Amino acid sequence: MNAFSSTMKSIRSLLSVPSVASVLSVLSLLAVPALAADKKHDPSDHTHEKKTAGPNGGRLINTVTPRAEFFVTADRKVQITFLDAAGKAIAPASQVVTVTSGERSAPKTLTFVKSGDTLLSVAALPAGNNLPTVVQIKADAAAKPITAKFNVDLAKCGECKLAEYACICAH
Ligand SMILES: [Zn+2]
Repeated sequence: MNAFSSTMKSIRSLLSVPSVASVLSVLSLLAVPALAADKKHDPSDHTHEKKTAGPNGGRLINTVTPRAEFFVTADRKVQITFLDAAGKAIAPASQVVTVTSGERSAPKTLTFVKSGDTLLSVAALPAGNNLPTVVQIKADAAAKPITAKFNVDLAKCGECKLAEYACICAH
């Protein structure tokens, strides 16, 4: 047997059906744990949920049900939009929202009125582009408020291009 036919014989044995099948079965065995690991990082797992923006590019408040988007309009009013599980706007029910914003020495309290499918603040935010803010949302006038505290930083994030108060980056 010369070197060529010996090489061809080993190539043929590599290509034979049983060895291809065994390679495939090894691959499928390897694939099972990989899939199980993916499942662990399912985005619906709320403890590891990636930050997402609201439909208007605002900040999501996930501690209320239904969750709400906090968004500052071009005329510095606060717009609260309640969202269904798919992130679609749903008309406010009997929620009562109060926003207190501005320096602690002179904070401004905003009240809200229905505007389409959202709640819109009657007045604008006080002056300043980095305002300590407290949002209180009650399911109805008699309910206990859910409170969210954050700075309304209106500077644009260079990475996600959203305002810093709504930034979805890890920083
Ligand atoms: Zn960002």
